[in-house]
Amino acid sequence: MTQFSILVVDDEPDNFDVIETLLADRDYELHYASSGSNAIASLDTYHPDLILLDVMMPEIDGIETCQRIKADPTWRSIPVVMVTALTSKKDLSRCLAAGADDFISKPVGRLELTARVRSMLRIRQQYQQLQSFNAQLEVTVRQRTAQLQIAIEQDPLTHLPSRSRLLRHILDALALDEAPCALICLDLDRFKFVNGSFGYAMGNELLVAIARRLQHLVPPGDSLARMGGDEFCFLIHRVERLALVEDFVRMLQASFETPFRVADCDIYVSASMGVALSTESDRQAETMLQDADTAMYRAKLQGKGSYQVFDRHMHVEMLDRLTLENDLQRGLERQEFLPYFQPIIHLNSRQIAGFEALARWQHPDQGLVSPGRFIPCLETTGAIVPVGIQILERACRQLAEWHRQGADTLTMSVNLSTRQFSSPTLLADIDRVLADTSVNPARLKLEITESAIMDNAEAAIALTKDIRSRNIQISIDDFGTGYSSLGYLHHFPVDILKIDRSFLSLNHSGERPYGVVDTIVSLSKQLRLAVVAEGIETSDQFDWLRQLGCEFGQGYLFSKPLPASEIESSFLHSELVL
Ligand code: C2E
Ligand code: CA
Ligand code: CA
Repeated sequence: MTQFSILVVDDEPDNFDVIETLLADRDYELHYASSGSNAIASLDTYHPDLILLDVMMPEIDGIETCQRIKADPTWRSIPVVMVTALTSKKDLSRCLAAGADDFISKPVGRLELTARVRSMLRIRQQYQQLQSFNAQLEVTVRQRTAQLQIAIEQDPLTHLPSRSRLLRHILDALALDEAPCALICLDLDRFKFVNGSFGYAMGNELLVAIARRLQHLVPPGDSLARMGGDEFCFLIHRVERLALVEDFVRMLQASFETPFRVADCDIYVSASMGVALSTESDRQAETMLQDADTAMYRAKLQGKGSYQVFDRHMHVEMLDRLTLENDLQRGLERQEFLPYFQPIIHLNSRQIAGFEALARWQHPDQGLVSPGRFIPCLETTGAIVPVGIQILERACRQLAEWHRQGADTLTMSVNLSTRQFSSPTLLADIDRVLADTSVNPARLKLEITESAIMDNAEAAIALTKDIRSRNIQISIDDFGTGYSSLGYLHHFPVDILKIDRSFLSLNHSGERPYGVVDTIVSLSKQLRLAVVAEGIETSDQFDWLRQLGCEFGQGYLFSKPLPASEIESSFLHSELVL
C-alpha cells in the first residue's frame, strides 16, 4: 500500500512540528506549507491525500484557501480538515460553506488528530478505489462499444460491411456533392434451393465463396456489402454515365458463369440485379436502397440472371403488385377462388368427354378475374399451393356430383403448377381430396407443364409414378412449347398430351404451323397416348384436326369455360354439342 501524503498548512512552523510529533508513529509522509498560496502552489508537487489547514493566516486565510482548492476540479476530492481555535457555530459554518470536510480544534490533541486523520484517509482511500474501478469500467465499456460497432458494421459470415455500414457510405457519398452514385442490389437466384439440397453449412460456404469473388470485382474506392441472406449490394461512386454501370453489371453477370467450388462440389448459381441511381432517388439513401431492391425484384420476375435499372414506373408497378398480393391472401382466406369448366370434346362423336377446371377469382370489387392476372403472382408467393388444392377439391366435388347424376364417364382435368409439383404435401393433399370428395380417381387427370417436369426430372418421375399409382391420369399441358425434347417422354408415365393452342393459330407468314400438330399426333399414336388439341376456335381447325386423327379437342368453338350451373343447363342435360 502506498504511503499517504499529508499537507500541513500553517503560518507558524511550530504548529507543523507539533503535528509531526503527534503523528510520528504513523507511516505518513508529511509536507509543510507556510501560507495558503504556498499550499495551492505545492499541490502539484505533493499530491496530498489530506490537507490539514490552519484557518487564521495572513494574506489569504484558511477559509479562502479551502474555497480555492475546492473550486479546482483537480483537487476538489482531497479532504480538507480545518485546524482552528475558533469554535463558534458561525465560524464552523463558514468553514463548511467553504467546502471543508471536518475540523480539529486547537490546541491539537493526539487522540482527536489521529482519529480525524485516519477516518479522512479511509474515506480518501475508498474514493480512490471507486475512481479506479470507474476508470476500468469506462475502458471495458469503450472496448465493448467498439466490438459492438464492428459487429453492427460487419457481416460475421463474409466479413463484408453490413447494411448499416453501407448506409453510412451512401450517406457520405450523397453528402459530397459530386457526380451521382449508383447502387447495385444483387440477389442470388434460387438460393433456397441450394440451402434445401446441400444444407445450411454448404449454403454458408457458398455465400462466403461468392463474397470473395465479388470482393475482387469491387472498383477501387467503391464498396460491397452483404445486406443479409443471399443479398449483396455494391455502391459505385461518381457515375458519369449509366452505360458504365451497366457494363459493370454485365461483368458481374459473367462472373457467375464459372461455378463456385464448395466442399469439392462445383455449384452454379445466377444472380438477379437491380440498379438505382442517386439522381432517380432524390438523393435519399434509404429511398435509393428501396429503388435498387424494387429494380432487382423486377429483374427476378423477368427470369434468372437478369438485371433492371430502376425507373419511376416501377414504383407504381410495385404498389399494384403488393396490393394484388394482399388481395390474393385475403382471397385465399375467404375462399374466393372457384373453378370454371371448359368442355373437352371427343372430336369424332362431338360428345363431351370431360372438362378442364380453370381457376377464376371472384374479386369483391373487380368481379371475375382471369388466371393470367393472378396465377403468376400466386406462383411467386407460393400461395398457388393452397389455392390449387382448393380448386382441385371443388372440381372433384363437382365431378363426383355429376357422376351421381348419371354422367359417370365424364373426366375432370385439373392444372398443377410448377410450384405445386414441388410441394412436399402434394400427395397427402391429393389423398385427402380423394377421400373427402369420394371422386373416382380414374376419371381425374392432372395437367402438368413440360417445364414443371424438366425443372427436376428425377423427382418428377417419382412423383408422377406416385400419382399414377392412385389411378389418376397425367396429362402434359402446353405440349411442344417447352423443351421440345420428345426423348424424355419414354421415361414418364404419361397418358395424355395437350397440344398448345399456339400451334393452331396462324404463324407470322400467315400459315398454320400444322406440321407440328401432325408430328405430335403421330408421335402420340406410336406412344399410345391420347391427344387433346387446345384452342379450337373455327370449324376449319376442327375439321382438319379430325382428319389428322386427333382424338380430343377443346376451345371457344365448343364453349368457353363456364360456371358449373351453366354447364349443367347447357350441356349436361343435352349431351351433344355443336
Ligand atoms: P391452360 O391450362 O393452357 O388453359 C387453357 C387456357 O386457354 C384457358 O385460359 C382457356 O380459357 C383458354 N382457352 C380455351 N379455349 C380457348 C380458345 O379457343 N381460344 C383461346 N384464345 N383461348 C382458349 P384461362 O382460363 O385464362 O387460363 C389460363 C392459364 O392459367 C391456364 O392455361 C393455366 O396455365 C392457368 N390456370 C388456370 N387455372 C389454373 C389452376 O387451377 N391451377 C393452375 N396451376 N393454373 C391454372
Ligand atoms: Ca391446362
Ligand atoms: Ca394449355
